[in-house]
Amino acid sequence: MATAGPGPGDCVFCPIVARRSPAYIVYENDTAIAFLDIFPFTRGHVLVVPRRHVDRLTGLRDGEPGALLASVAEVCRRVERLSRDYNVALNQGALAGQIVFHLHFHVIPRYDRQNPFAGTARAPLAADEAHELVRVLGAA
Ligand code: AMP
Ligand code: ZN
Repeated sequence: MATAGPGPGDCVFCPIVARRSPAYIVYENDTAIAFLDIFPFTRGHVLVVPRRHVDRLTGLRDGEPGALLASVAEVCRRVERLSRDYNVALNQGALAGQIVFHLHFHVIPRYDRQNPFAGTARAPLAADEAHELVRVLGAA
């Protein structure tokens, strides 16, 4: 059975979309917003989020999947400034590793042959690193 998460009222990404919570935003348009993950798997780990709260891909309406994918592609284009190699990931449901139940794609740059997903603790994003990444990724 598919696992559900909290609704929009408990969502940590909706306040970021509404600009009530801070985030290191690297890209945004009318339908999506992209910001740095606060516990990055690698340097430059970005989340791409639709502005409208849905918990999963199948909750999107006509036209929304295409617009979201275009936003993901734009973020990928910017992440290629850091590395040509990256993972684009989507966790759907708690059993698949989803912990924030507002749809989001991960874009995770890869710099070497180490597996960033195998480790245990992920260090929090440092402010100085975040500012530098916003400078690099935030430019059109
Ligand atoms: P998932 O496991 O696919 O639900 O991934 C959720 C991601 O959101 C994790 O990688 C978290 O580190 C990240 N995250 C949680 N809260 C925030 C936040 N306030 N700002 C940025 N990233 C966040
Ligand atoms: Zn939300």
